[in-house]
Amino acid sequence: MKLYNTLTKRDETFQPQDGQTVGMYVCGPTVYDHIHIGNVRPIIVFDTLRRYLETTKGWKVTHIQNVTDVDDKLINRSLETGETVETIARTYTDAYFDLLKGLGVLSPTHSPKATEHIEDMIELVSSLIDQGHAYERDGDVYFRVDSFEGYGKLSGRRLEDQEAGARIAASAQKENPLDFTLWKAAKPGEPNWDSPWGPGRPGWHTECVALSNRYLGDRRDIHAGGNDLVFPHHENEIAQAESAKHEPFFRFWLHNGMLSIGGEKMSKSLGNFDYAKNVLERHDAETVRYFYLSRHYRKPLDYSEEGLQAARTAVDRIRTLLSDVDAELRNAAGSPGAAGMAFVETLRTYRSRYIEAMDDDLNTVAAIGVLQELVSSINRFRQDATPDDRLALRDAVTLIRELGAPLGLFAESEATHAGLENDLVDLLINLRKQLRDKKDFALADQIRDQLAEMGVTLKDSAQGTIWSMT
Ligand SMILES: [Zn+2]
Repeated sequence: MKLYNTLTKRDETFQPQDGQTVGMYVCGPTVYDHIHIGNVRPIIVFDTLRRYLETTKGWKVTHIQNVTDVDDKLINRSLETGETVETIARTYTDAYFDLLKGLGVLSPTHSPKATEHIEDMIELVSSLIDQGHAYERDGDVYFRVDSFEGYGKLSGRRLEDQEAGARIAASAQKENPLDFTLWKAAKPGEPNWDSPWGPGRPGWHTECVALSNRYLGDRRDIHAGGNDLVFPHHENEIAQAESAKHEPFFRFWLHNGMLSIGGEKMSKSLGNFDYAKNVLERHDAETVRYFYLSRHYRKPLDYSEEGLQAARTAVDRIRTLLSDVDAELRNAAGSPGAAGMAFVETLRTYRSRYIEAMDDDLNTVAAIGVLQELVSSINRFRQDATPDDRLALRDAVTLIRELGAPLGLFAESEATHAGLENDLVDLLINLRKQLRDKKDFALADQIRDQLAEMGVTLKDSAQGTIWSMT
């Protein structure tokens, strides 16, 4: 599989270092507010990458996503609302994980909170000071950018150019205006932790380095996020990590393009932004995923309700096919005739074209194109296939679900069926109880026996009836 690596600025063949498990770190939310629709893009894109690596490539993925639960934004919010930083963090952390669930996104393997790992960050900062890469001024600690030769290698920004045109406000404290904060002294009333430099809190750039090292160890394969994080966040992560340990930090750096609205940059100050949770109230998760994946992840994506409507139409077309074929074949048995078998043979090419697309820097646009072509081909086949040959449709819908899985699409109808089955069994159990209460044991027993024939075993106890499937 090839992935575009921001660090080397080219497509490179990706393999986990140990050939089995991929270590992937995706920068997580700062939990001071609900997340907006722009932040949904990396969530869906890198969830898709993870699913693809797991299901199609057969690798395990250790997926780490931090939760920044102490930060200036949280402190400002606390000053505005009067709520404590902890309360704000808890509220929006819960909201974030609800949103992931709503989007059908796999939970990260670990989602450590910054405040759980202050010691790790203090250790990192101490090591940087000891090695001459950082210095303390009045309780703040800064990274000395001049001390790291590779500064700028990710973003392509040369230190000299930036210094020349530095519009960054010079600070009396800093040796160089580009030096960045590793540890920030606490003002009275702010959350703080004891450190060798007095009470304070870690900087955001430091958090991701400490957590990457803590949770991935040497398995630092992929570090990902939006391309607004390339500079300064990821550049500053690399500077710290490589200065501290004298070895490359991550091998692959992946970045998604930004979201715009009506061709304009989305921003809170322009007022043209929306919370992700509101979008999920208007559209189902599969439609939202389809929309976000219908443009290559590195390109800019323009958000519009028309775009989401188009995604809805495209998703519905596939869902309709799946449910029609499911219904048609529910009780069908046997194997397809020659024409059906020939059709099954043609399915292979769709699978290989899909994999080729996804292997090409996660080209979900082309992959979705293959899925839609597959649907057209199935619909054509259905028009005049004989009943026997139509049995080939079973393989066809299985393939749609297989190819949909990495995209997080088309599992829903199966899940809905499972939910419906549960509800129906519960309904029958309830009916049986009412019959027994009325002493109609013959009919009650008939329900139990017929369920048993279908493989559903009922067990009566003092607490009620439970059932299991054999
Ligand atoms: Zn980060």
